[in-house]
Amino acid sequence: MGWGASTCVLIAEMHKNRILEGKKILLIDPDDKKENDKTFCFWAKEDEEICQDYSKLISTSWDKIQINNGCPKLIDPLKYFHIKSIDLYDYSREIISKYDFSCIKTLVLSVENQVCLSVKTDQKEYFGHYVFDSRPKKIREPFQKKYSISQSFYGLKIKLKRRSFEDRVYRMMDFRVSQAKATQFVYILPYSKDTALIELTRFGKDILQINEAENILNKFIECNFGEYTVVGKERGIIPMTPVSPRGNTKANVINIGTRGGNVKPSTGYAFKNMYDQSRLICNSVSFKNKSLSKKNRFLFYDQLLLIILTRWPEKGRFIFERLFKTNSPVFVLNFLDEKTKFFGELKMFLKLQIGIFLKSVFFWILWKGKKHIFSGAMILCVFLPSSIQGYSDLSIAPYQILLLALGLIVIGIPHGALDHFTEAIDKGKKITIKFVARYLALMIPIFLIWLWQPSLALIVFLLYSAWHFGQTDAKQWGVESKAIGFIWGAILLSYLFITHLNEFNIILSALKIPPFENFQGIRGLRYLIIVLGFIFPLIFRRFEWFLVVVFLLLSQYTNLIFSFGIYFVLHHSRIGWHHLKRKLQVSHSYMFKKALPFNLGAIALFCFFFVNIESGVKENIAYFFVFLSCVSFPHVLCMNAFYSKQAE
Ligand SMILES: Cc1cc2nc3c(=O)[nH]c(=O)nc-3n(C[C@H](O)[C@H](O)[C@H](O)COP(=O)(O)OP(=O)(O)OC[C@H]3O[C@@H](n4cnc5c(N)ncnc54)[C@H](O)[C@@H]3O)c2cc1C
Repeated sequence: MGWGASTCVLIAEMHKNRILEGKKILLIDPDDKKENDKTFCFWAKEDEEICQDYSKLISTSWDKIQINNGCPKLIDPLKYFHIKSIDLYDYSREIISKYDFSCIKTLVLSVENQVCLSVKTDQKEYFGHYVFDSRPKKIREPFQKKYSISQSFYGLKIKLKRRSFEDRVYRMMDFRVSQAKATQFVYILPYSKDTALIELTRFGKDILQINEAENILNKFIECNFGEYTVVGKERGIIPMTPVSPRGNTKANVINIGTRGGNVKPSTGYAFKNMYDQSRLICNSVSFKNKSLSKKNRFLFYDQLLLIILTRWPEKGRFIFERLFKTNSPVFVLNFLDEKTKFFGELKMFLKLQIGIFLKSVFFWILWKGKKHIFSGAMILCVFLPSSIQGYSDLSIAPYQILLLALGLIVIGIPHGALDHFTEAIDKGKKITIKFVARYLALMIPIFLIWLWQPSLALIVFLLYSAWHFGQTDAKQWGVESKAIGFIWGAILLSYLFITHLNEFNIILSALKIPPFENFQGIRGLRYLIIVLGFIFPLIFRRFEWFLVVVFLLLSQYTNLIFSFGIYFVLHHSRIGWHHLKRKLQVSHSYMFKKALPFNLGAIALFCFFFVNIESGVKENIAYFFVFLSCVSFPHVLCMNAFYSKQAE
């Protein structure tokens, strides 16, 4: 989907690897790619494979780099290469003509993964085995995401009246323009002694407007090169975001190009990454390797730079100038290509304005810490004093019951009170009588199983709870495998119960279920479960997941109900709510308003049918358990349908 740079690069790589033979391929793009709308530049050694693969398309190359009007420096053994976008598009057209390709000039509206992959356009639906998706994601206002800015640029291809370009030198950054609104610089690519592309680039929240860019460029060109005529123009916006886009969770849908996270956040360069991703895809069995793995430390450096460019845009110029002044250009280019070693990078940072980098590290900690505030709170909650002697066998303190009740009212019940929005039970996103009737009808069999065979009801409840908790967490942490989600859900519940066996057995006895006998080896089983719990976040490199497992490990220091409640309210309900909010694109208050009727209904149902004031805490908690299992069954089904059909 899309016939831009990434698709052309992928087609070329597939052609090289003879993957296109015997395949039926559909290319969908609203544009027929007949215009030279971009220039693709990259630096590399001449003997690198990328240079050989694209040697026929490289129209110009430079071997010297210049910053401001300083002395040009050789970048040997590297060179800076230039490809015209039209040459890349034409090259892909030539390859396409040799195979069974169909090209359709329209927009893709959506991609679904039901029985097989389907791609919908406004005219038709197409089916296939693999989808390579390069549709640009909607560029949200850069203000919306923290530390996200844009690289916006406007360039003029000009012809000088008097010849004065140094045609072997490309000027990477010339900061001798206003820095008032953002970090901005001029970039010069001379094609000959008298023609060049001169581009004004801005790193900032505000997008460069044509009028202001033309004014600045006009002054800059006249002042430095004299009179000129314009022979072409180039304009573009590249997102510079501190968070890499998530890979596509649908099997056999592979995001490529900008959508696939190939743009380097701090520079906007993407061509070499797109080339590397294509090679990765083509060299793996069934295109299993989808995206380039990111080196965390380079992502961290990019994030620091984006924090500086967002908070102190006027400092950008001095950082880049010092970077090139105190390091060889080859080192800087290799650093931007993420090919340098840690100690070299450390030396480089020490030569830069270290104060501002330390300040940005502080803001980085605040920014990242905020994401983990709830996981941190969960861990702290474990250490709240629990048992009040003689109050209840379940060791739960009254204030803990109050806290949990508050949490349930604020987020626990509301997160499940939006099931009508999932459209799994009834279309229309409304609470209708039909919807309520069907919802209640789904609860009845679970209630009947509790009456008939409580042990069976408990097993069924635990199974679908493990599925649901695991599914929600897997979505949150970008894990595709449903099995892993389920195993994680099972780890969570089994560890909670096994470490609170006495309390678990008290609830079982209230539910008229035989107790779970302590057995030899239970300690070993506990260790095994928690070790398994730690393995997942380490494999998937998810810090939030790791914190939740730390919470699980520590949960043995508080009572069962409170530890489960903390997880349910502060983690599960919160992220389920956020998933719905993200998909529905509505405000919190709108969601609360829409959840209210169902919310009240659930509370009323509980109070009328499940609370018995004459019984003790233990019995009421047992009734609550049954109630929870009944209401959660339709919720689990709704959310399962929601997650399954969730489009990217
Ligand atoms: C002007 C400019 C210059 C750049 N120069 C460089 C450079 O020198 N070096 C470098 O490394 N990087 C550069 N980049 C960054 C990056 O390499 C390019 O943005 C590159 O084009 C990204 O490739 P892509 O396939 O992701 O997107 P695109 O090339 O933009 O292709 C996306 C395609 O999807 C199509 N499309 C959109 N919506 C739909 C839809 N709903 N259904 C189907 N098709 C759709 C579009 O028509 C388009 O053809 C530049 C970017 C710009 C904007």
